[in-house]
Amino acid sequence: SPGLYIVATPIGNLGDLTVRAADLLRSADLVLAEDKRVSSRLLSHIGASVPMRTYNDHSDTADREAIVARLGYEVVALVSDAGTPLISDPGYKLVRDARAAGHQIVTLPGPCAAVAAMTLAGLPTDRFLFLGFLPPKEKARADAIAEVAAIRATLTLYESGPRLSASLTALAAGLGNRDAAVARELTKLHEECVTGTLGELAARYADAPPRGEIVIVVGPPAEASAPTEDDLDAALRSALAAGESP
Ligand code: SAM
Repeated sequence: SPGLYIVATPIGNLGDLTVRAADLLRSADLVLAEDKRVSSRLLSHIGASVPMRTYNDHSDTADREAIVARLGYEVVALVSDAGTPLISDPGYKLVRDARAAGHQIVTLPGPCAAVAAMTLAGLPTDRFLFLGFLPPKEKARADAIAEVAAIRATLTLYESGPRLSASLTALAAGLGNRDAAVARELTKLHEECVTGTLGELAARYADAPPRGEIVIVVGPPAEASAPTEDDLDAALRSALAAGESP
């Protein structure tokens, strides 16, 4: 039925396209693509011949109005170059406007590099904060890191190879030398996940900036150590003693 469909696509391995995504893309009236050349490869891989229109960070209010006007009678699919739309990718304004106009909005979840990296890192995943890309300039980057230093959660960031070592160094300086992981080329031939402290990882990549796409995962700050049984006994005794003497 007509509406806006948010369709996750593979982050490397075409086998990760869901059955539902393939079916929807084949039957859509229009595919909104970040880059039509990138998405046309995916569409031809699944034998879909669907009209495409560019929708990206340069799209403006008029573009969105033109798209929203079609949602009442067409199946319109939004895809990114790779992964889940809206996650460090365009789309939220379109969803907002489609919602305001009362159209049906359906999500077809699937690959997301941030989530995939966290499944490999071996760091706590019960609480996490996704930071997207850090600002490239040193001062802005240090400020962005300082802002989250006290947060008791795993941090997940996107980064490029040439900037990796500098970012790891800045993270170590701002957060302390926490445990971390660098996940690279996920779902592709050269997939790897390297773990270590931020300092170790910064050193490892200093002279050899890695190729490919990268996610950094940083563990939460060290817990204040949990009280031992002796600590609890001592606390209980002093509380009782305080209660006895008025
Ligand atoms: N929407 C996408 C998603 O759901 O993951 C992310 C888009 S963002 C513009 C692109 C960044 O995601 C890359 O620069 C890289 O940091 C990360 N990324 C995408 N694919 C990846 C992969 N296969 N392995 C590691 N990181 C990846």
